[in-house]
Amino acid sequence: MSASNPAGVFSTDVRAIKGIGEAYAKALQKLGITNLRELISYFPRAYEDRREYRRIADLLPGESACVRAIVADEPKLSHIRKGLDLVKFRAVDESAALDLTYFNQSYLKNTFRKGEEFVFYGKAEGDLLRRRMTNPLFERAGENRITGRIMPIYPLTAGVGQSLLHKSMRQGLDACADELADFLPEDVRTEYRLCHVRYAYENVHFPADDEALSVARRRLSFEELYLLTLGLRLLRERRAAVAGQRCENVPLTPFTDALPFSLTAAQRRAVEDTVRDMCAERPMNRLVQGDVGSGKTMVAAAAIWFAAQSALQSALMAPTEILAEQHYKTLAPLLEGLGVRCALLTASTPAKTRRSVLEQLQSGEITLAIGTHALLSPDVQYRRLGLVVTDEQHRFGVDQRAALGAKGDNPHLLVMSATPIPRTLALMIYGDLDVSLIDELPPGRQKIDTFAVHSGYHARIYAFLRKLIGEGRQAYIVCPMVAENDELPDERKAVTAYADKLQKEVFPDLVVRPIHGKMKAKEKDAIMRDFSAGSIHILVSTTVVEVGVDVPNAAVMLIENAECFGLSQLHQLRGRVGRGRHKSYCILVSDNKGEDNRQRLAVMTRTNNGFEIAEEDLKLRGPGDFFGSRQHGLPSLRVADLTCDMELLHEARAAAERLIAADPELDAHPALQARIRELFELNAGAMN
Ligand code: ADP
Ligand code: MG
Repeated sequence: MSASNPAGVFSTDVRAIKGIGEAYAKALQKLGITNLRELISYFPRAYEDRREYRRIADLLPGESACVRAIVADEPKLSHIRKGLDLVKFRAVDESAALDLTYFNQSYLKNTFRKGEEFVFYGKAEGDLLRRRMTNPLFERAGENRITGRIMPIYPLTAGVGQSLLHKSMRQGLDACADELADFLPEDVRTEYRLCHVRYAYENVHFPADDEALSVARRRLSFEELYLLTLGLRLLRERRAAVAGQRCENVPLTPFTDALPFSLTAAQRRAVEDTVRDMCAERPMNRLVQGDVGSGKTMVAAAAIWFAAQSALQSALMAPTEILAEQHYKTLAPLLEGLGVRCALLTASTPAKTRRSVLEQLQSGEITLAIGTHALLSPDVQYRRLGLVVTDEQHRFGVDQRAALGAKGDNPHLLVMSATPIPRTLALMIYGDLDVSLIDELPPGRQKIDTFAVHSGYHARIYAFLRKLIGEGRQAYIVCPMVAENDELPDERKAVTAYADKLQKEVFPDLVVRPIHGKMKAKEKDAIMRDFSAGSIHILVSTTVVEVGVDVPNAAVMLIENAECFGLSQLHQLRGRVGRGRHKSYCILVSDNKGEDNRQRLAVMTRTNNGFEIAEEDLKLRGPGDFFGSRQHGLPSLRVADLTCDMELLHEARAAAERLIAADPELDAHPALQARIRELFELNAGAMN
């Protein structure tokens, strides 16, 4: 590997590392690792203390430990049946004997030689008389590669095992450690007692001891929170520099009086936040965050009506045609009644209608355009676009939002999202992002009954579906993309095969249809329309139904292989039912007996509350996913644990604030500036 280009060493392809071939590189890619920077930034999820060697006599059944022992007899290979080979032998130390068994690794017969000393690490089984280990990790005594130290445990994927990852990590770090520049200002490092970046990377992966590990983690967490805070501050400052289109502060009563219900307190707060933003100097950039069914659409409607009072047009952009149509159906009657003219503009709008809508948008006769990406086409021109609302923003690219924003003169932006930010995270970003939380559902919602069962229940589940469909209801069945062997998962195969089977073998008299992401948008929308209209009884899908679809007659959400989904995703999927007056059910099928899975499904059966679920998800999985750029356009947190790093967060924020005060554009800190730019992808698009 060449170090002749220091700036570029981090972008070196991982395949440059000895031992990383095509197949392994591909597997690593699934973990988001393609170059050295990504490799060394792939942090362990846990550590195992393998420093202590236990005497065999002191092994406790059920506990993992290291023992140092001498092979006491020649390993025996036995062929039990096709596909099952065992290598068995005994090893001893001065205290007792240990029986060792390895499954299907017949070559090990020649690895362990009588009289040689090895270290084994694994879970002890058996009793005080006969102690056993099955498939323990091992190395030659004195090697100290995987024992005798604190070992990092990385999250894995098919084709990437711990030991291979350890080796690659060692080599990756060795290849670029010298080039790791510390972009944290010296005085910040001194003041907050933070170690050097090189020490941090070394010890987060290969901790010398507990102390070194905690010093390393502290430094990396601080760095993450510091960068995040700085980035958010920069974004905010730049936004403050442009002038928005100030709205006139008129009372909202004409709007609220026209609603068939009164807004919940949470909705009212969100509307107040929004209206206040729109009357201010700078353009609004607000995220409205509320659980599925919490009534975000009405907040958007209020903002649209409010903008219209100042003669500003609005655009409401939804991720799919079907959602755009739904919004049109709910909003047009309400807003037209208040004198706000609305139009629907999607890819399937007939050419003639489209032409007339475009004309009226340009002349300003139409005040609200509701649509999909079609709203972004260059020929869509507005007379005075003042507000852009995006629904379920995480399905939109940053560029697309920027393109829409560019159609007006710095229009106000309102983003609605059902992806909950756990409270701890919200707390942290409140200062820097404008977020309104709708933390309350409209009154009278029924709890969705949720059951977690194993696949032995299928016959009963199908009978239950049949009964509800007999009563006029409809059902969703969601199955995950399951990878077969090492192939990429084929979602089309998964859903079509399952739908076919159900149609032929279980529900020949009903209409069962598959829907999946590989279908053309037109095809998908047609199926959703049929489902909406009730002419499809059972919709079998991957997760395309996840976002915002509203079919009040659907009363069952059946999720197969529920272990494949994250908690938040399960909750989103469940939110597709319970939208009408019918009692609704969610059935989670999983044969996975793992503790993690059991806990996740238990959370689902216990609560319907999205925020509670987000908190649990945070505990079980860490915050990375919430902060994934996919959802909020923010960099993800890889080390910092906000459930316990709050103190560090305050320190990092204080340090960031001081730096910005002294050097607002970070001109004196080019390395820091570059890193933030990289993390936030601060291009024109992200700066809206
Ligand atoms: P989401 O936040 O998931 O987008 P919606 O805006 O689609 O939720 O609202 C869900 C349903 O609740 C809609 O049928 C809507 O008319 C209804 N709704 C919204 N706000 C209220 C309210 N304050 N009282 C009663 N029903 C409401
Ligand atoms: Mg919605």
